[in-house]
Formats: sequence, C-alpha cells, structure tokens
Amino acid sequence: MNDSLSSLALDSALLSKLEVGVVVLDLDYRVLVWNDFMMHHSGVQAQSIIGQSLFERFDEIDPDWFRRKTEPVFRLKTPTYVIAEQRPYLFKFNSYRPVTGASVTMFQNITLFPLTDDKGKVTQVGVLVYDVTEEVTSRQQLAQANERLESISRIDGLTGLYNRRYWEECCELEFKRQQRYGGDTSLVMLDIDHFKQINDTYGHPAGDQVIKALAKIIQTHCRETDMAGRYGGEEFVLLLPDTPAACAQTVAERIRLEAEQMVVQYDGQGLRFTSSFGVSGLGHEVQSFMQWVEQADKALYLAKEQGRNRVCMA
Ligand code: GH3
Ligand code: MG
Ligand code: MG
Repeated sequence: MNDSLSSLALDSALLSKLEVGVVVLDLDYRVLVWNDFMMHHSGVQAQSIIGQSLFERFDEIDPDWFRRKTEPVFRLKTPTYVIAEQRPYLFKFNSYRPVTGASVTMFQNITLFPLTDDKGKVTQVGVLVYDVTEEVTSRQQLAQANERLESISRIDGLTGLYNRRYWEECCELEFKRQQRYGGDTSLVMLDIDHFKQINDTYGHPAGDQVIKALAKIIQTHCRETDMAGRYGGEEFVLLLPDTPAACAQTVAERIRLEAEQMVVQYDGQGLRFTSSFGVSGLGHEVQSFMQWVEQADKALYLAKEQGRNRVCMA
C-alpha cells in the first residue's frame, strides 16, 4: 500500500470491521486492497488475489463496461456511482435472507472513487460495495403488492368482472379512440328483471348467486377485447370494440336467451330469472362517453317499459 492509501487510514483493522466491500485497483485493474467483507462474500482470500487482475478472477464483471465506468474517475478525478436499479451487482455474491433463510444474489450499490499519488495524479481507484439487498427486495415487494392491489381494485369482488370505476375508464378510452380513428364500437347495458322479488323471496345470498350466474354467462359471450363490467347491484355493462350495433344486438340476444334458460341452484331450489338489455352503437351525435352510456341506459329503460326480457336499440 502506498502513502496515499495509508493517509486515507485504510488500515487493515478498520477495513476488517466495515460492513462494506473495499477494493483498491491500480491502473491495470490489479487488486491492491481486498477487505474482510470481500473475502467473506467471495470466498477469495486477500493473499490469493492481491496483485491479480480483477477481470481474470471475476467473470461476471464485463471489462469494457467497467473500464468505461472508471474512465471519468481516472481522467476527471470524480467519483462515479452504479446503483442496483441500473445494474443489480458488480460481484455476484450470495446473500442469505434473515427471515426465510433463502439465498438470493446480493444487490449492490457501487461507488468508484479516485485515489491520487503525492503529485496529485490518479493512480488508483477505490471501489466500495454496499449490500442493498434488503432495500431493493423490500422495494420490489412493495411494487408487487401495489400491482396486486391495483388489479384487485379493478375487479368486482362478487363477479370477477371489472368494477364500475375501471370499466368507465376503459369506456372513456374507447370513446376517445373511436373519435380519433373511427370504426364501429358498441355498448350493451343490462339489468336483471324484478330482482327485488328474487331477493325478497329467496334472500339476499340467493340474489348474489343469480348475479354471479349472469356474470358468468356474460363472460362466456365476451371476446378477449370486450370489456364486461358490473355497473351497479344487478346491472352490467359490456363494451364491444370493433362491433357494429347490429352485432352487439346479436350478442345481447344470446346472453338474454341463455339467462332465460338458466336455472340457478340455491339451497335445494332452482331459481329462474330474466334480464333486459339496451344497446347503443357509437354515432356522431354522441359528445362524451357518459352520453354514450346514457343512450344505452335509455334503451334499457325502453326494454323494461316494453315488458322486460328483451333487447332494445338506442
Ligand atoms: P326491474 O325489473 O325494474 O329492474 O326491477 P328490480 O326489482 O330489479 O329493480 P331494481 O333494479 O331497482 O332493484 C335492484 C335491487 O337489487 C335493489 C337491491 O336491493 C338489490 N341489490 C343491489 N345490489 C345487490 C347485491 O349485490 N346483491 C343482492 N342480492 N341484491 C342487490
Ligand atoms: Mg333490475
Ligand atoms: Mg337495477
């Protein structure tokens, strides 16, 4: 070790105590300092690596990339940093997780800093290796939890269809897409007939089973690009991109028929129900997605008025 290093007080007693990897390299990337942290995690003893090329001992380090990273350290005398989000690690070390005992590859933040000789010339580069596995994995877990939460909040718990909020977002997007690029797109709104009677006669949980059964029927008639949502209690919406109103009417008619024929088993009893439908294609007169939904709702109201268990067009 030269004077500049001893002046930095990098003595072995201090180095061995650090919970940080300390490596010093010369201009040819030969190892000059290798502390206990590095020995412990790599299994490579200091005496066996001192004087050796870093690249020859550690395949995981891409020499071109590492030279590019250290270049400003030598040339501009400024430190550079590599955080785990950019590159997960410099040295491929195992890290044992305290709770699960599982072994994962250690995430590392790296600092590269210049070490000068007595003439002020940078002749060595110091490498600090910080174990940030804990921070990175907990950040990742948080992101995953948020993702799950987001997907849960898009979905209606009872039916597995999209909830109203998310469905409306999709509907608005589809409306904007159609305004810009044109094409046919249709909306179906449906509502179970005399549902209060079902609840009153068989009880609320029985009503829930009917809602679930209808949701299933809707789902089986959906294409991958269609968006089915639960709009309210026993009210559903179906967004059908690239579908003219006449085709949407056919889809609605199929759902209506299947619902009519369905017998929902509940507590030893067979429950039957019907539903009414309003269909609205997206025409030029529609100014907003809400207006489009209102049109479908009006058609649904018409279906109710005309005697229920039918499909009406806006
Ligand atoms: P209509 O044919 O005119 O649609 O008559 P309806 O009886 O279905 O009337 P309406 O649509 O106004 O009634 C909806 C009822 O649905 C009222 C409410 O108590 C019930 N409901 C709303 N959400 C749920 C739910 O999640 N589960 C059950 N079982 N019932 C619900
Ligand atoms: Mg109803
Ligand atoms: Mg209703």
